[in-house]
Amino acid sequence: MVRVGRNLPVVAAAEPQTASAEPAGAAGAPGAAPENDVRRGLPSVERLLAALDPAVPHAVRARIARAVIAEARAGRLAPDAVADTAVTRVRDFRTGLLGPVLNATGVLLHTNLGRAPIGADAVAAMTDAAGYANVEYRLAEGVRGSRHEHAGALLAEACGAEAGIVVNNNAAAVLLVLAALARGNEVLVSRGELVEIGGGFRVPDILAETGARLVEVGTTNRTTVADYERALGPDVALVMKVHASNYRMVGFVAAAGVDELAPLGYPVVVDAGSGLLDDTTPWLPNRPPWLRDEPGVRQCLAAGAALVTFSGDKLLGGPQAGIIVGRRDLIDRLKAHPLARALRADKVTLAGLQAVACAYLDGTAADIPFWRAAATPVADLGTRAERLAAALADEGTAAVAVATEAVAGGGALPGLGIPSAGVAVAATHPAIVAARLRDQRVVARIEDDRIVCDLRTVAPTDDDRLLAALADASRP
Ligand SMILES: *Cc1c(COP(=O)(O)O)cnc(C)c1O
Repeated sequence: MVRVGRNLPVVAAAEPQTASAEPAGAAGAPGAAPENDVRRGLPSVERLLAALDPAVPHAVRARIARAVIAEARAGRLAPDAVADTAVTRVRDFRTGLLGPVLNATGVLLHTNLGRAPIGADAVAAMTDAAGYANVEYRLAEGVRGSRHEHAGALLAEACGAEAGIVVNNNAAAVLLVLAALARGNEVLVSRGELVEIGGGFRVPDILAETGARLVEVGTTNRTTVADYERALGPDVALVMKVHASNYRMVGFVAAAGVDELAPLGYPVVVDAGSGLLDDTTPWLPNRPPWLRDEPGVRQCLAAGAALVTFSGDKLLGGPQAGIIVGRRDLIDRLKAHPLARALRADKVTLAGLQAVACAYLDGTAADIPFWRAAATPVADLGTRAERLAAALADEGTAAVAVATEAVAGGGALPGLGIPSAGVAVAATHPAIVAARLRDQRVVARIEDDRIVCDLRTVAPTDDDRLLAALADASRP
C-alpha cells in the first residue's frame, strides 16, 4: 500500500542505477539504423519497473516506465536519462498523493492544506467508527435510528439549540436550508451580504440553484430593519443573514442585527460560516482579541435566529462538515427533504464531530488542535523559534528567530493577525529552498529573500522535523 506518512520519507527507489541502460553501441552491427542503436540502449519496461519505488502501484509504475521509454525512443529523452527520469516521476507521483504536510505558513485554517487539523480524540473516534457502527441503529432498543441523533443533537446541545443536523459542508447546509424552506418563495438578503465566500460559493448563485427568489434589501454599505420591513410580504419564506467572513466594511456602514430582525415574524437564518460556538469562548482562559466581533452560534440563536449554519472545519476545529442548528420543527423539515440524503455526512465524519461536540460540552475544547495552536502564548513560540534558529546556526545555516503574524484563515476574520513567532532562513534563491522544503512535505512562506516558517501552525512535536527539513533545504 502506498503510504504518504509523515515519518516515511518520500524516497526514490534504491539503486536506480540497476536499471541503467545496457551498454549501448558495442553490440550494434555496423550500419544498423540509428533507431536500433537507441533501442539497444534502453532498458526493458520490466527492468525499469524493478528499479522504481515498489510502494507506488504497479500499474502506475508501468505507465510511467512505458511513457519514459517511449519518449527516449522518439528521441525526446537521452537513453542515459531514462532511469533517473522514471525515478523522478515516480517520486513526484508519490509526493503528489494526498498525505500529511507540515504547515509552516502561519495560516491556521489553510484551505489548501485541509483547514482545521483533526485532534487525537476525534481521530480515535473516527477510527473506531470506521468499521460497523450504530450510525442509524439504536442499540438500546434494537431498532432503526437516525444518523442525526449523535453529532447533530450533541452540537445542538453545545450551543443551546433545540435540534441539529450535519451535512457534507456548510455550502451544503445553506443549500439544504434554502431548498427545503424557501423553494419557490422569497428570501430577503441585505445587499451588503451578497458575498462570495470563495471556491465559487456565491450567495446569489446558491439561492438561484435552490429555486428560491432573492430579494435584495438595503444598500451595499447600509441596511436597516426598515429596509427589510418594506420587502416583507406573503411570498417571503426566510430572512437570511450571511456573515461576510472574508471581507470587512468600514466607515459609513450599518447592518440590522438578528435581534432586530427576529421580531419581524419570519424565520431568520444566519449563515455564520466559521462556527465559533460561543463568542465568549468559555473553553479558553481569555477571549482572544483577534476574534473581535466574530459572531457566536449560541449568541445568534439567543438573539432569535431560527437556524444557524456553520462549517465543521473552521473555528469549530473538527472534520469537514456543515452543521445546521436551531428550531426543531425546521430541522425536522430539513431531515425529511430529499436533498438531506444527498448531502448527508458519513459515519466517520459524524464520529469525529461527536468527539468535538463532547469536548465543547465537557469544557475541554482548548485541547482541540485549532484552539491549542491559536491560544499558544506568543512567548512560547518565541522560545521555540530561538532554539530552532540557534540549532540551524550551529549547522552553518543563517537563521534568525523573528516576530511574525499568523492568521485564522479559512475565510474567517479578515485582516486580524495573531501575534506569532517563527524562524527565518536567508536564501539566495528562496524559491529553490521552498521547493526543496515542499519535497519534504513542508510548506513555508517566502518573504523577500528569506524563507519564514511560522511556528503557530507547527505542533511542537514537529519542531525537529522542521529543523531537519530546513537544514537540508538550505544546503548550498
Ligand atoms: C466558509 C463559509 C461557507 C462555506 O462553508 P464550507 O464548509 O466551506 O462549505 C459558507 N458561508 C460562510 C459565511 C462561510 O464563512
